[in-house]
Amino acid sequence: MSLAISAIDYINGIKNGSITSEEFVAKTIEHIKKHEPRLHAFLSINEDAIEQARQIDKKVKLGQKVGAFYGMPISIKDNICIKGGKTTCASKMLENYTAPYDATVVSNLKSQDAIIIGKTNLDEFAMGVATEFSAFGPSKNPWNIDYVPGGSSGGSAVSVAGLESILSLGSDTGGSVRNPASFCSIVGLKPTYGLVSRYGLISYSNSIEQIGPMGRKVEDVALLLNHIAGKDPHDPTTLTNPTSDYLSEIDVGVSGKKIGIIKEMSSGAGLDKTVESVFRNAVSAFEKLGAKIEEVSLDMVEYTVATYYILTTAEAGSNLSRYDNLRYGYDLDSEGYEFKSYISKARRSFGPEVTRRMILGGFVPSAGFAGKYLLKALKVKNKLKKQIQSAFTKFDYLISPTVPVLPFKFGEKINDPLAMYLADINTVTANLTGIPAISIPYEIRNGLPVGVQIHANILQEKPLLQAGYALQNTTKIPEITL
Ligand code: GLN
Repeated sequence: MSLAISAIDYINGIKNGSITSEEFVAKTIEHIKKHEPRLHAFLSINEDAIEQARQIDKKVKLGQKVGAFYGMPISIKDNICIKGGKTTCASKMLENYTAPYDATVVSNLKSQDAIIIGKTNLDEFAMGVATEFSAFGPSKNPWNIDYVPGGSSGGSAVSVAGLESILSLGSDTGGSVRNPASFCSIVGLKPTYGLVSRYGLISYSNSIEQIGPMGRKVEDVALLLNHIAGKDPHDPTTLTNPTSDYLSEIDVGVSGKKIGIIKEMSSGAGLDKTVESVFRNAVSAFEKLGAKIEEVSLDMVEYTVATYYILTTAEAGSNLSRYDNLRYGYDLDSEGYEFKSYISKARRSFGPEVTRRMILGGFVPSAGFAGKYLLKALKVKNKLKKQIQSAFTKFDYLISPTVPVLPFKFGEKINDPLAMYLADINTVTANLTGIPAISIPYEIRNGLPVGVQIHANILQEKPLLQAGYALQNTTKIPEITL
């Protein structure tokens, strides 16, 4: 039994009796124990996983109703709450925090008999592109452990690429699902804003972020989306899901579809030559599939990184201000305890990147500067939205490389925040405009993965997955050696 099978093959295997959940989960745990010292995808492992798998096998054997995941191991980013378990956000600040409730996505998965195999590593509070900002040490790229796995959902991508889990849930505020998917050669989807409930996702920049499915195959990601999408009374920003099944008709192809290559994301000085060449191969593949391709210029893209960092730090500054170690009640000031020094001491358990963003986040909306930064950023966001909407009157899809650079070595960008932020140039547009985008693994060059990004209009996940599936079938990624 191979751990490299797809979610769909796993389900078929359970149905035809060739595998059991217990066997698969036990083998996965063994594999995790063997490879975690090198990969460090996880911050915690579910100790009851094998017992839970046994219970699901029992239901299968007795012919009882079994949920859609049939005891499949799925990992969850550690900024998503699981009742009774630790949810650390890879931060010293929440090192001992135990979530009092399940995130909606987690209860969805549990009710469909998924086995939550463990909680995955991330950049502290999901701020970063490499997992180097995890307070508990970075995750390593399973294709070459000298290289970063991307971030912030790096642990999720490593767990899936490293065969430690079949599927994973990450969160994507500005690329955190798609970037590590690209760096680790897996599929990652950032859904339309509001398609997936954020209830139980610890907020970083709540007006633009989404939980997103990650897997080794497009059809696996479609399956996972089927069970997490839709209206949630606990999250008033959720939308009613117009699509009942993302898996059906996934193989319809892209013949006759109009695809726009986003010029500002697919050329220029910041684009690595290897990434560009892989992207060009994907463009030719789309052409061969019968799509009509044209370049389209979206000049607002140039301003998106600055806009993204202004808006997200402003929101993060407010969201993270709750971590003060004290709230409400009796005021100790009168007894000589001084509030500000207490808070500043408490805040020292934030790492350097989170601290930098909180400082920036206090500044950009402040009196005297809001007009220059926050309000201007909001204007850019609106203009960008209009530009994207007008592009979708002409095109079915908009494409680009997922990340303009190859996976880089540890330490290469950590002291250069601007270089790090620029790695987000191709991913933040989908978040700022609310549209869905997917990263498809396309080639491994010199041992390093390169992904291709496809965007579709709001709530067009079904055609988006169809395009991803079509592209996936034009390439063959070699099997990973661990
Ligand atoms: N790299 C971006 C940031 O650091 C995106 C992170 C994310 O999507 N959570 O903010």
